[in-house]
Amino acid sequence: MKKCVLCDSDKKIFLLKGKDIYMKVDNKFYDLYQCLECKLTTLNPLPNHSELSKYYPSNYKIFLQDKNENNNDYFTKFKIHIIKFFKLNHLQNTLDALITQKFNYLDYGCGNGKNIFQLQARYKNWIFFGYDKFNSKNLNYKKDRIIFIDDLNKFEKIEDNFFDIINLSSVIEHVHNPIKLILQLKKKLHKNGLMIIKTPNFNSFSRKIFGRYWHNLDIPRHLHIFSDKNLEKLLIENNFKKKKIIYSRNSGVEIKSLYNLFKVKKNNSIHKYLVNLFNPLTFLLSIFKLSSTITIIVRNNEKI
Ligand SMILES: [Zn+2]
Repeated sequence: MKKCVLCDSDKKIFLLKGKDIYMKVDNKFYDLYQCLECKLTTLNPLPNHSELSKYYPSNYKIFLQDKNENNNDYFTKFKIHIIKFFKLNHLQNTLDALITQKFNYLDYGCGNGKNIFQLQARYKNWIFFGYDKFNSKNLNYKKDRIIFIDDLNKFEKIEDNFFDIINLSSVIEHVHNPIKLILQLKKKLHKNGLMIIKTPNFNSFSRKIFGRYWHNLDIPRHLHIFSDKNLEKLLIENNFKKKKIIYSRNSGVEIKSLYNLFKVKKNNSIHKYLVNLFNPLTFLLSIFKLSSTITIIVRNNEKI
């Protein structure tokens, strides 16, 4: 096994053995190791790019982004009101403070573009750019203030310091060299711009409870699993300034981990109710910084 991609250390401990229990592409087992220096968790062996492509069947991203979300039930409406009333959507609060700016926003790994479509409706002065390596051929159309970049060469030609906000949601855990990607994107980010990174949290309560059944392990698609601590440290070492870490309150990961544990299939009609039922528990976990998913917002700290 190679040295740690973050800190170059070769000191590590074996954590567990697991296979693809989410998409069930095959029955191959992989090991997870944790670096004893920086605590980054890494899959072993690391599948190469051609091996990895089979683990991304066309329905994978759709699984991640429920297209047909229905928010009409009583509990969901109530939840939306509470979040709005108490201003609990911390990411939205951060973005709202910038609503009047003329910003270039990049969603790197934009999937089917759902996040961009929602933001475009709210932030009327911003221009939105989307890129997704696995979905580029489906995104070759234009919409008002939305530009999908359908090829990596075109993306690389974009000038440095161009974007004011770069969003990386569920991306860094999927790439072979997350630090290399972050630094490449940092060059495209304005010297005072924001980077928003959402990723699983190895220090979560549910990871400790569910072990190899924890949904956010997503073997073998998640090559590296960070924690709130080592991700923050990595970003600060690379001249970002921490603005906020948001601990997810949604219990989706916990519920899917229960499905994995009891080997039951997701039933769409009851899934939403189970998520609502468990949300008070994951709300508590977020207060204790033990959520399954974290979003870190950092500011590029380069001199202008
Ligand atoms: Zn390390």
